[in-house]
Amino acid sequence: MNYPAQRRRQLARLLKEENVDALLVTNPVNVTYLTGFSGDSTYLILGRQHTLLVSDGRFTEQLAEECPGLDAYIRPSKQSLSRATADTLQKLGPRQVGFESGNVSVADLEVYREMLPAIEWKGVRDRVEKMRAVKDESEVAAIREAIRIAERAFAMFRSMLRRGDCEKDLHDAMEGYIRRAGGRCSSFPTIVAVDERAALPHAPPTGRNLAECHLLLVDWGASGAFYKSDLTRVLIPRNHSAFSRSARQEKADEKLEKVYATVLAAQQAAIAAVRPGAKGHDVDAIARAVMDEAGYGKYFMHGLGHGIGLQVHEAPAVRTDSVDVLQAGMVVTIEPGIYLPGWGGVRLEDDVLVTPDGNEVLTSVPKDFASQILDFGV
Ligand code: ZN
Ligand code: ZN
Repeated sequence: MNYPAQRRRQLARLLKEENVDALLVTNPVNVTYLTGFSGDSTYLILGRQHTLLVSDGRFTEQLAEECPGLDAYIRPSKQSLSRATADTLQKLGPRQVGFESGNVSVADLEVYREMLPAIEWKGVRDRVEKMRAVKDESEVAAIREAIRIAERAFAMFRSMLRRGDCEKDLHDAMEGYIRRAGGRCSSFPTIVAVDERAALPHAPPTGRNLAECHLLLVDWGASGAFYKSDLTRVLIPRNHSAFSRSARQEKADEKLEKVYATVLAAQQAAIAAVRPGAKGHDVDAIARAVMDEAGYGKYFMHGLGHGIGLQVHEAPAVRTDSVDVLQAGMVVTIEPGIYLPGWGGVRLEDDVLVTPDGNEVLTSVPKDFASQILDFGV
């Protein structure tokens, strides 16, 4: 099945609704989605009559390989991409052209308006992004693959942990594990945060090491050929045996267990609510209610989740201000967290597919508390 061609046909049908004769697709991720092209500096003109790519000589071979059957205008190197696009549009002669208002620069729009005064330009927002939110079977398979890669990488990461490792070493090591596990690269810079550093939801890695730390938050994901995964776990290094635990350590362990249990309960309650027709903000509210009840509500200061796909953050949104409604085929993260300044943070993140009758959690790294304990010995 030629999935990109099917997507272009679907989008072409929507052009009528937008009242345009053609759509100029400039967002490179959307170009990839609609064509299978993995390069850059290439636009897609998708018309009701004609569809073609505007690219340059570096990509001639690649276009033939990745987008068979799709016409391309190869611009000469002295002509800019925006001018080549305007030239091509002039030849095609549409009257109304939609452009991706979230992506076209003001300078490029000026070029188009100046070169093509007869065309009526209409900003179109998130048209392709909305299509991308609902995955077809090939995309779900690619996300499953990106998750398998991330999970293999995490197994290597975990088995190689040493108490002398610092956050930066571990961040760098994860990149290697992801690539060795079959990934192209990580889908975002891995977050590796020890103790109170984990209270920063997006902590950059430092020289802090694992010795004497009581928790280690790891937020990582893999890019497969195109699609991405996104997971978070919190590992619990035990630098003392059950026999030598002091009363203070016992109290600290209890607090960690309580925070962890609250995050896990919030995540499970939210996942149970993921199904077609559920609203993004309602799923978020379910997790938040569990946090509130345990007294941690104000320490959960980000949205509950986001779509994943060609990008690691995409539609739909699962957060307080979301107006998105879940549909079968969407893949979202569910990632509640509790961040206590000066102490640390716990976040659990899994990738969840909305199925026709509920959901399927695609990620499988264990998340019960006991499985997170790392025994570094006494
Ligand atoms: Zn994440
Ligand atoms: Zn995430």
